[in-house]
Amino acid sequence: MSNSARLSVVVHTEEEFDWNAGFFASNNGVNHGEELIYFCQELIALGAKIVFAMDYAFVTSAQGQAVIHHFKTHHANDVEFATHLHPWVNPPFAEQDEVHEKDSYPGNLPAATEQAKLTILTETIENQVGYRPTTYLAGRYGVGENTYRILKELGYTVDLSITPFTDYRHQHGPDFTSFNNEEVITDDIRCITHSTGFVSYLAPFTDYLNKKAGNLDRLNNNLIGKILLKLLGVRKVRLSAEGYNSKDMLALSDSLIRLGVQHLLFSFHSPTVKMGITPYTKNMHSLNAFKRNTSEFLTSVKVKHSLTVKDTAK
Ligand SMILES: [Zn+2]
Repeated sequence: MSNSARLSVVVHTEEEFDWNAGFFASNNGVNHGEELIYFCQELIALGAKIVFAMDYAFVTSAQGQAVIHHFKTHHANDVEFATHLHPWVNPPFAEQDEVHEKDSYPGNLPAATEQAKLTILTETIENQVGYRPTTYLAGRYGVGENTYRILKELGYTVDLSITPFTDYRHQHGPDFTSFNNEEVITDDIRCITHSTGFVSYLAPFTDYLNKKAGNLDRLNNNLIGKILLKLLGVRKVRLSAEGYNSKDMLALSDSLIRLGVQHLLFSFHSPTVKMGITPYTKNMHSLNAFKRNTSEFLTSVKVKHSLTVKDTAK
């Protein structure tokens, strides 16, 4: 069993938007800066290291800049500033305000457009934080066939976009069904996955499902397999308190660590820290559950190191 697993907290640091109401260039408001500072300070006090993967709307907003300034000044060793591309709020802009869902995934854009947007975003972040970001998270996990070449050209070394066992093709997104949580290298970019997998009532069975992409699908293809999955309480879990409880997240972490995964990513979207914005924290009750599951998980997960991604690349 590996005892050197690491954990990073990854924040999709972005504007507030209604995830079911379309994608608009003009929808770029950031009004959760204070709540974000407060919440992330608490996580740092628990020993967490935070990667702020920031999009253009956030980095160019007044509250976003206050957040950057705060963590740069008071917690420089506990945070990493990274890049998160939401193409619909990132110049160069399209002529229309509304962007089709297909074009909300940066990897679906023509290579020159993806490159132009990523170049502007990278330089904007560099100007604001004082160093060039080297870690990337695609908006909507949308990496595409040109993404890794572009990242390499811009000096990136790490990508956090792969979401194992998951298929976003029904909404024009990428297909990650062939990935488990092992790191892969594409065009010299290290791909650390957004930790995602399965849990069940039986640890060895949980490990079997997480070991190889396709093991669950094989069981799902026949009636006996389907009954087995049901009897063993199999469910898909992501290391995120946005809809997942600390017990399931700990079970998934234990399984991934047993399988030798070296780097776990726990993530959430920045607007979730303020009540009433994202679907996960619509009221005080769900906001409290989100906070409780986050702190329970971070204080119980059995990792040796809590690191930013940048630390691991040294
Ligand atoms: Zn995002």
